[in-house]
Amino acid sequence: MKDDQLILKVNDLKKYFPVKKGVFRKVVGQVKAVDGVSFSLKEGETLGLVGESGCGKSTTGETLMKLVEPTAGTIEYKNEAGDWRDLTKIDDQEFYSYKKDIQMIFQDPMSSLNPRMSVRDIIVEPLEIHGIGSKETRTQTAKDLLEQVGLSEFFLNRYPHEFSGGQRQRIGIARALTLNPRIIVCDEPVSALDVSVQAQILNILESLQDEMGLTYIFIAHNLSVVEHISDRVMVMYLGKIVEIASADDLYDRPLHPYTEILLQSIPEGDPRSKKKRGKIDGIVPDPSNPPSGCNLHPRCPYAEDICQKEEPPLKIIDKESEHFAACHFAEKLVLAGYSDLVEKKA
Ligand code: SF4
Repeated sequence: MKDDQLILKVNDLKKYFPVKKGVFRKVVGQVKAVDGVSFSLKEGETLGLVGESGCGKSTTGETLMKLVEPTAGTIEYKNEAGDWRDLTKIDDQEFYSYKKDIQMIFQDPMSSLNPRMSVRDIIVEPLEIHGIGSKETRTQTAKDLLEQVGLSEFFLNRYPHEFSGGQRQRIGIARALTLNPRIIVCDEPVSALDVSVQAQILNILESLQDEMGLTYIFIAHNLSVVEHISDRVMVMYLGKIVEIASADDLYDRPLHPYTEILLQSIPEGDPRSKKKRGKIDGIVPDPSNPPSGCNLHPRCPYAEDICQKEEPPLKIIDKESEHFAACHFAEKLVLAGYSDLVEKKA
């Protein structure tokens, strides 16, 4: 990927949380929530970030927003002037000027919207914080943003509890757009919504991307949601990236056994069906005491002796398609893509 196409470069990002025990809260270990994650983000693309609960995907998103301080690593951001700045090295004052460029949409719009504020106040609050505009222009911005997310200005003086989950998420999106951001981290924005409403929210996000040239990091716990919206998909397991590929490649030709497992768990046929094609065997190991070698080996159907001893690095397997995987046997294994799994079932 050419450097001039990029807007964000994350290198060897780590976030460790101490494990404390006893009366004196002595540190007895570390939870490696994010453990050496590196990736880049192309301007205008949607990068899906997928994995089971506890894989580190949300923590990765939060470090980009400086909601949590990384333990190590760099997060380089290219500002509008074209200069690269390492967000982990700048002080709060400088970060403040970039904060408007990177916004977040949260999973649960009910808890992310202040219940005591009207829709107008929720949407214009970032403008007030940054001292942008007059009262009249802010109100007009709130009206315009409501229209962009498909809500009437009639709702301006209503409160979050008066809306459905899908409407609240639209308000959350409007608020994320208030400062005209360049990157939006969407942290499971449709997981709490009905499937029919999920499609509406995904359509809104796609239209906004086309209109405003937005770049998305789209976090989800299963592959069915990200398929529709992502250009590339990054799969995480126990704090590490195990596969990165274009969305089409990842679905048609997965190279990591964990991706194959995630594909097997996509609901059958009718997306409204709750019936799973297969289930994910085993539970995610304790991240404070991960398995040796390849973290997946206790759950992997293809594991061999080497998998318990040596950790496979994330490496490029197909240069042309920029397909990366972290598996000792990525070049050898022939894994089932999504269409193979559908055919098998039929
Ligand atoms: Fe499975 Fe071994 Fe590959 Fe890990 S390295 S995914 S355990 S085959």
